[in-house]
Amino acid sequence: MNLVWFKNDLRIFDHRPLWEASHEPCIALYIIEPLWLDDIHTGLFHKIFLRECLLDLKSYLKQKNIPLLVLQGEAKDVLAQVIHNHNIKKVYSHQQTGLYWSFKRDLKVKAFLEDQEIPWIEYKQFAVVRKLKNRDTWNKRRDEIIARELYPEPKKQKRQIDLEKSFFDIEALGERKNESIQFGGRKAAVKTLNSFLERRGRFYYRDLSSPLTAADSCSRLSPYISFGCLSLSEINQAIRKAGSLDDFHWKRSLKAFESRIWWHCHFIQKLESEPEIEFENVNPGFNGMRENDFNSEYFKAWSQGQTGFPMIDACMRSLRETGWINFRMRALLVSFASYQLWLHWKPLSDFLAPYFLDFEPGIHFSQLQMQSGVTGINTIRMYSPIKQSLDQDPKGEFIRRWVPELSRLDDQSIHAPFDAPVMFLTMSGVELGRDYPFPIVDPKKSYDEAKEKIYAWRKSPQVTQFASGIIQKHASRKNKFFPIQHRKSFGNLDCHNYPKDEE
Ligand SMILES: Cc1cc2nc3c(=O)[nH]c(=O)nc-3n(C[C@H](O)[C@H](O)[C@H](O)COP(=O)(O)OP(=O)(O)OC[C@H]3O[C@@H](n4cnc5c(N)ncnc54)[C@H](O)[C@@H]3O)c2cc1C
Repeated sequence: MNLVWFKNDLRIFDHRPLWEASHEPCIALYIIEPLWLDDIHTGLFHKIFLRECLLDLKSYLKQKNIPLLVLQGEAKDVLAQVIHNHNIKKVYSHQQTGLYWSFKRDLKVKAFLEDQEIPWIEYKQFAVVRKLKNRDTWNKRRDEIIARELYPEPKKQKRQIDLEKSFFDIEALGERKNESIQFGGRKAAVKTLNSFLERRGRFYYRDLSSPLTAADSCSRLSPYISFGCLSLSEINQAIRKAGSLDDFHWKRSLKAFESRIWWHCHFIQKLESEPEIEFENVNPGFNGMRENDFNSEYFKAWSQGQTGFPMIDACMRSLRETGWINFRMRALLVSFASYQLWLHWKPLSDFLAPYFLDFEPGIHFSQLQMQSGVTGINTIRMYSPIKQSLDQDPKGEFIRRWVPELSRLDDQSIHAPFDAPVMFLTMSGVELGRDYPFPIVDPKKSYDEAKEKIYAWRKSPQVTQFASGIIQKHASRKNKFFPIQHRKSFGNLDCHNYPKDEE
């Protein structure tokens, strides 16, 4: 009997391990790992979503007469038990670029299976390359991997194999109480993909930065990609078939969307090549810059959506309720906390991860570090919360939705109530300090101070000495400036390894 070990690949279509294993009798396994349940990055949203994914997967597999075992325990122990009970000859799975604990888990599993002389056949799920030697050739390999043929659903097994009852009650993961977070499972994933490519995505390029429009105009595929309900190759091929070719908006949107899908693997490759970025600054030259300046009052206000900056608070409250916020607003939340509040990226990352339904370690740690300016190779982006508010929510609609205590303010005052004439506030029945906090920092002073500090660090030899190594290892080769970066001197060079509209 073959065993298919499901991890972050909860689908039956375009699933190579399942397809290959199904040529012989096979069973499927998902392990609820205590290390995952107790991990600081795991939140209730993830458990609810996983529950829905597993129930969905189970019913798809049942149609193919493939039983899904869901067991709780350390991966090596569970595998040992299943291999023993079911006389397993081969284990099939996808490679996973996860957290440090999953990396160590894989080493243990590998040693155990080798010891038992059971082949472990692993396939790539993304275009992420293990032990990548040369970043220069990665783009080409990535494109080949993503454009490959899709794997069909598994072969139907001749008879339903009887298994012992699952020891883990999937329902116990947590039941949803409302519809605020996205629904898990492949059915929901396919529906989301289709609605995006048929209707919602037409103005993606135009609407993706505003939190008002992004929720509908962005694909909302991220949790389905992170849990593997859809494969990147299948999304890539769906893009090619979608949209009217003579429609300017569709053409532009699909191009912008395709480039985001491209970034997915680019970021995960960084974690694969350097797992330490889960814990440490990409550029060690920044060590010591913020570590001793942690202000717990600032952190508390930021994490509770009580900073006194309406757009920041609206974004945080919306994220905590729905498990999602668009890219620009994620960047704003992190940039504000990193610069104006001068908080280290690690506690920010730990706090945000359980709320991001789409938590994907490779993207998450890289983005947190980029947005807080500690890579030393990316352009420093210090977003002004007031400017972003005016640009992305000019009438204050998003703010009114999530910060209802300000809903009676006029369209001008709502972005920075602390700057509004007291008379305006009084007329609207809003008293700062009573109904809504005063800003926890002076917007201009905190911005100027942070700017001075970050640029001083950025220019210092202790930071610049690492730049060339980081560029060699991690930077995108898509950029037309890249050849310049091969030069020895990195003096004033900013590595714009990011799409223009995301900068
Ligand atoms: C601080 C911070 C943390 C982030 N953490 C995560 C995370 O844990 N998981 C995650 O999937 N994305 C993360 N992102 C990237 C991005 O914000 C989300 O992928 C996006 O908002 C998800 O919504 P969507 O699926 O509608 O995106 P769309 O705009 O429709 O993009 C489609 C897909 O492309 C990929 N993608 C989009 N933008 C990026 C990007 N900048 N980098 C890499 N891949 C991208 C995602 O897989 C996404 O689902 C983070 C961004 C920031 C600034």
